[in-house]
Amino acid sequence: GLPPAPVDDALLARRDAALAGVQEHYYGDPPRIERGWRVHLVDAGGRALLDMVNNVTAIGHAHPALTAAASRQLALLNTNSRFHYAAIADFAARLTALLPAPLEKVLLVNSGSEAVDLAIRVAQAATGRRGVVAVGEAYHGWTLASDAVSTSIADNPNAVGTRPDWVHVVDAPNAYRGRHRGEDARRYGPEAAAAIRALAADGRPPAAFLAEPFFGNAGGVALPDGYLAEVYAAVRESGGLAIADEVQVGLGRLGRWFWGFEQQGVVPDVVTVAKSLGNGFPLGAVITTAEVAAGFEAEGSFFSSSGGSPVSSVVGSTVLEVIASEGLQERARVVGDRLKAGLLALAERHAIIGAVHGEGLYLGLELVRDRATREPATAETAAICDRLLLLGVVMQPTGDHKNVLKIKPPLVLPEDAADVFVARLDEVLTTGW
Ligand code: PMP
Repeated sequence: GLPPAPVDDALLARRDAALAGVQEHYYGDPPRIERGWRVHLVDAGGRALLDMVNNVTAIGHAHPALTAAASRQLALLNTNSRFHYAAIADFAARLTALLPAPLEKVLLVNSGSEAVDLAIRVAQAATGRRGVVAVGEAYHGWTLASDAVSTSIADNPNAVGTRPDWVHVVDAPNAYRGRHRGEDARRYGPEAAAAIRALAADGRPPAAFLAEPFFGNAGGVALPDGYLAEVYAAVRESGGLAIADEVQVGLGRLGRWFWGFEQQGVVPDVVTVAKSLGNGFPLGAVITTAEVAAGFEAEGSFFSSSGGSPVSSVVGSTVLEVIASEGLQERARVVGDRLKAGLLALAERHAIIGAVHGEGLYLGLELVRDRATREPATAETAAICDRLLLLGVVMQPTGDHKNVLKIKPPLVLPEDAADVFVARLDEVLTTGW
């Protein structure tokens, strides 16, 4: 293949001079990406990189059907949702058709952060309470409220201790790396439920419990069996609501389940969706029950200029249409199973692999210095990602310790590309990083 395009230092300097707080990628020499096509990112010199990390572009980069639909709608009409047009009705109906019956009311926004923020406001309005129970090791967004419930210490070591007083943090239900491991992880549910009951007994029943229903931020770790059933029951007992953040794991990526909450056998009261809903176009949604929506509506109307605009709605409808017509949930299951089998085989030969988490095309490869102590191999993970880039694969770390390879490619990943990824990773783990 082609060599990497030379790093354009002047361009990097120009970017850094103009932008604040750029999340620096762990690559010493970031590739300059100017094109994307299906599962590949293409650098400025025309070198194609296998994109194993972009879950947002679920239907693949530059999907022609999406380009055509969005371009057509842009040429016809784009306006705010105060007007009456068909696209918003079609999109909302498509979305609710994918959810269990009680989840029938949609609020449209422009990102995951906005969706989580709004979900919290909706729960607070519907219950007349303020408190929200969140789990450790979580990321839910950058806005004031979505940041308040984000507890991950990956970028902020003080995250847990600095949450506002209306946020109550329970232990991350992480069966690999938490206080309770393996079989003991079944204790997380009763403990979180007890914490919620204690708040209620103290006269502070929470408005909501909020968590990813499949632990994406921890690297695709499934919650312990029965966890959400137990915790949702406890929060509902005292009149609170269950919010599922499906921003990362929803929309078919898990393969066996369209939504993360299905894996736990529960139905939330409020669901947040974003990221792949727009395939990279800024789109977010909150879906809730008629009763909860009515509680929110009692506080006044809701308006977001671009949320549910004709273009946003057409983009969302087209993405949902492509996920269905191309059978991408089933692809996620089939290709994900193959990928996971390949990674499990690598784990037999490479001691640095502590665990293979996840389902479908949301997998996490947790790297450790010692399988017994589970000491996170943080620096190694960064170096492995750098080396994978040299071999033409884009991969990034996640988790509180940035020691989990987050494997969440576009859902159009072909089998042979999954095999290429496993082979490249094998090469790096065998020859060193
Ligand atoms: N919730 C979860 C679970 C996320 O992973 C993210 C983004 N990483 C968000 C919310 C925030 O979404 P956005 O970046 O679109 O604001």
